[in-house]
Amino acid sequence: MDKDIVERVVSEILETPATIAWDDIAGLKHAKAAVQELAVWPLMKPELFRGARAVPRGLLLFGPPGTGKTLIGRAVASQCGATFFSISASSLTSKWIGEGEKMVRALFAVAAACEPAVIFVDEIDSLLSARKSEGEHESSRRMKTEFLVQMDGLGGDEGRLLLIGATNRPQELDDGARRRLAKQLYIPLPCEDARRAIVENILGADASVRHSLSDSDLDVITKKTDGYSGSDMRHLVQEAARAPLRELFSASGGGGGGGGGGGGGAAGDVLSPTAMRPIQLVDFKRAAKQVRPSVTKADIDFHEEWNRKHGAMS
Ligand code: ADP
Repeated sequence: MDKDIVERVVSEILETPATIAWDDIAGLKHAKAAVQELAVWPLMKPELFRGARAVPRGLLLFGPPGTGKTLIGRAVASQCGATFFSISASSLTSKWIGEGEKMVRALFAVAAACEPAVIFVDEIDSLLSARKSEGEHESSRRMKTEFLVQMDGLGGDEGRLLLIGATNRPQELDDGARRRLAKQLYIPLPCEDARRAIVENILGADASVRHSLSDSDLDVITKKTDGYSGSDMRHLVQEAARAPLRELFSASGGGGGGGGGGGGGAAGDVLSPTAMRPIQLVDFKRAAKQVRPSVTKADIDFHEEWNRKHGAMS
């Protein structure tokens, strides 16, 4: 195989391993259990998942953006000690114009050489879409065909290679893709408990970040954030957590409200984590005015309906 292409796969798609535990992913109890059975165990013990116990080697995670689909992919790889290849299909179609077919072949070949491996394809709809886009290049049509062919090859007996596709437009996938990604798991917005866990995890992750949030403050935050995705929640916490820092910067004359530029010089002495007041509920209330939910009600309704019709756990 062309050495340059292999090197590109390794540098552009191979991710450095990260340790992600199931507990790092808030909520999604059913999805996590399903992924355990459909992905983690078969990767760890392929010899047990044969014949009547066989599972598909491709899995589709669908749901609104920012709900943890990529996190789940990383967690699967992390749990199995698998190599993780991650690519967004839209970058695949735009960046590799003309060489897509070769790159796809190289990707699957390199992954096979690194077994156990997980290939995670974000926005998989843009690669395996049913629609013929205006002026679709012959090369992208060939890339799609190659991808489907490679997916068929995943089913080898003791194969320890798994493909996880993620999308927030499951309706765009063509029939061939849907057949190969037979299990479609809905990854919904976080429920109240999950939103609370996300806030607690982020605030608890760094001992230098202090807060004075009581249980009832956390209740207020989680109740007021109905409709926020996991990613929105992270942005909200980060916005709130910067409020004490912003005050410190302004008080020290270091930032003039812009929060940027002047970190050095005299300001350096007072700008320490211990000098900062703890994060309070009011910071979250203010932050919620800046960070709005990114997913629309119509989008959620659509996914719920799709899940009722096609979801593996509905
Ligand atoms: P998706 O792939 O569904 O678009 P990601 O998995 O990339 O979303 O999530 C983006 C970020 O949002 C994550 O890195 C994490 O910080 C946060 N996040 C999203 N969902 C969750 C969740 N269920 N639990 C914890 N963090 C989450």
